[in-house]
Amino acid sequence: MNSLAVLTSGGDAPGMNACIRAVVRTALTLSMKVYGIDRGYTGLIEGDFTEMDRSSVSDIIRRGGTILHTSRCEEFKTVEGREKALKRLAAYNIEGLIAIGGDGTFRGADLLSKMGFPVSCIPGTIDNDLPYTDYTIGFDTAVNTVLEAINKIADTAGSHERVSVVEVMGRKCGDIALFSGLDGGAEAIIIPEKSYDINNICKTILENKKKGRLNNLIIVAEGAVEGDGGAKKIAEQIEDITGIEARSTTLGYTQRGGSPSGKDRGLGCKFGYYAVQTIYSGVTSSAVGIKNNKVFHMPIEDALKYEKVFDEELYNIFLTLTKNQEGKNAKN
Ligand code: ADP
Repeated sequence: MNSLAVLTSGGDAPGMNACIRAVVRTALTLSMKVYGIDRGYTGLIEGDFTEMDRSSVSDIIRRGGTILHTSRCEEFKTVEGREKALKRLAAYNIEGLIAIGGDGTFRGADLLSKMGFPVSCIPGTIDNDLPYTDYTIGFDTAVNTVLEAINKIADTAGSHERVSVVEVMGRKCGDIALFSGLDGGAEAIIIPEKSYDINNICKTILENKKKGRLNNLIIVAEGAVEGDGGAKKIAEQIEDITGIEARSTTLGYTQRGGSPSGKDRGLGCKFGYYAVQTIYSGVTSSAVGIKNNKVFHMPIEDALKYEKVFDEELYNIFLTLTKNQEGKNAKN
């Protein structure tokens, strides 16, 4: 293989830049030409390619977003769209593609590889919703962003005796809520994978009040409450039932941005390096991931077949640490 191209597609995620840098520099080390494709599959269809060198990716490892920009591209879902993409790649003598993105990006890449073009996919999405891998690039930074926000919200909530209901991203996957709820010391988390009982949550809040605790934190994943305005609805219910003031905050797009955490930069470096080595060695369809701290790859088609297994163990740890431990020897 003498040349490859790299693109980012779908939702952007912190750490994508670290990954682009790793792809470019690993490819150059293997004496390949490497092109950056602007705006994901849209740029691929339009031929928006720029040859990259070492310095094209200087000083980007610490930056959020993606220097290659991203897009959603309906045309790529059609055979004609993908045929146009193949013609563009052929015109530049590009022999392989590295696609960084989420589930949709992988679906597009899978179809392109089935048309005979070598593709390696790298998981980049803050939602951590690609079940074949333990982690995706961007998830850890998003959790840290939520924790920073929680710290600030909890300071002011404690001053006013208030319940804080914080809505985080995760339409179908409650990982951001689960991880940030555990790490942020939340009283309760409301996630799509588990049912919840508002009366139980209120009972905990009232018990905490009896013990003198002034602030309480409830984390809600955006997809977990039926209808719109999940956190707002929960805050209203809590106020009605407990009589304690409850405020809702929706963190929204702040969770996508920011300088990537050490973990996400590390994942970007490892995945980028590994994807280039894999495609260079002749593998025509690969999804790169990490399991038990080991980087691996499998065919994209197989990676897409995995169903999310909810981390019951972690959820049980959360429940244990939030339970009111009032055994007969308890002091308070
Ligand atoms: P993400 O990759 O973050 O999940 P999207 O779901 O928006 O984001 O997917 C990104 C792009 O991948 C889409 O805009 C489209 O170009 C392509 N894509 C998504 N689903 C398919 C599909 N079923 N077939 C072909 N291409 C797809």
